[in-house]
Amino acid sequence: MAASGALQEPLAAMPLVDHHCHGAVTADLTPAQFESLITEGESWPGVSSFDSPVGVAVRRHCAPLLDLPRHAPPADYLARRAALGWREVNRRFLTASGAEAFCVDTGYAPHPVTSPAELAAAPGAAAYEVVRLEGVAEAVAARGVEADAYAREFRAAAEEAVRRPGVVAVKSVAAYRTGFALDPARPAGAEVTRAAARWLVDGGRLSEPVLVRHLLWTAVDLGLPLQLHTGFGDADVRLHRADPALLTDWLHLTAGTIPVLLLHCWPYHRQAAYLATVFERVYLDVGLALHYTGPARSRAVLEEALEITPFRKLLYSSDAYGVAEFHHLGALSFRQGLAAMLQARVTADELSLPDALRVAAWTSHDNARRLYGLPESRSAREPGGRPTRKV
Ligand SMILES: [Zn+2]
Repeated sequence: MAASGALQEPLAAMPLVDHHCHGAVTADLTPAQFESLITEGESWPGVSSFDSPVGVAVRRHCAPLLDLPRHAPPADYLARRAALGWREVNRRFLTASGAEAFCVDTGYAPHPVTSPAELAAAPGAAAYEVVRLEGVAEAVAARGVEADAYAREFRAAAEEAVRRPGVVAVKSVAAYRTGFALDPARPAGAEVTRAAARWLVDGGRLSEPVLVRHLLWTAVDLGLPLQLHTGFGDADVRLHRADPALLTDWLHLTAGTIPVLLLHCWPYHRQAAYLATVFERVYLDVGLALHYTGPARSRAVLEEALEITPFRKLLYSSDAYGVAEFHHLGALSFRQGLAAMLQARVTADELSLPDALRVAAWTSHDNARRLYGLPESRSAREPGGRPTRKV
């Protein structure tokens, strides 16, 4: 869907801060590997991942960047991708994304993927890192710790991890591990020790409910913005337990502390919008859903996300992982969907053009810069792109 009118061009050129994404693979992919990376499900025998909204969006919007006609057949697409090689493919799509900064979750990498700096190199963007706290906890367990020392050692390891240069936030995948229907209260020390004793028998994935609560409260103590996976994800998530509205009591208890960024949210983006409306420090994005719907439906998702959300509360993210097509497609879906949505409101005289441009700038980059303390603009960025952490 092409946006038209006065907003299309400014949105197409708008600098983007991709506040939640992952690396792109650093290897050539077989057709089967590529197809498995463009679905959150499995590759099913006899069914191509290309025969889906995201698959046709790749053929429509990514094929031209590989010098192919729009809607090129999957076989042509994969052959051209293989001929160009992963370095050139990544370079083209990451450059096309127009992202000025990437905040990269480095805690999920089942494939060899780019480091944050490698991801940002092609578009000349700034690279920042988001530390996944479950990974920190699991590393503490893996190296061996007594149950009564777990809380102290986890806290120390988390503090050390966020001191690394370029770290701007922490993230939790509690949605995957326990869901959000947790006791919202901060667990007492003795409770944490007993839970650690249970977990440390086997270690592995942290899914012990008391320790997941403890992890969320440790995030509050760290003082950095906390990204929370909510809603849409792969088959590992129990979607009904990943509804961010289940966090309401915890958000009451932690009100006035750290910024909480609800990631993805779909299909609970209206619940997330409510939370962002009533809690001062709650924000949301609709990453992942943007490229899975493609530009054909991104306007609808953004319209729903912004029905009541204050305009300083929505951020842009791609949540791209693996294929650099998604870093591009997320950006394109956001730009086109937002341009079409804002244009319709301007045409209906529900919004002035200057106000529409302010909303576009806030959601594209300003809100993220303010939250993570990122430098104001490309030109103002200090060498190395170090965050200033004004949060
Ligand atoms: Zn993600």
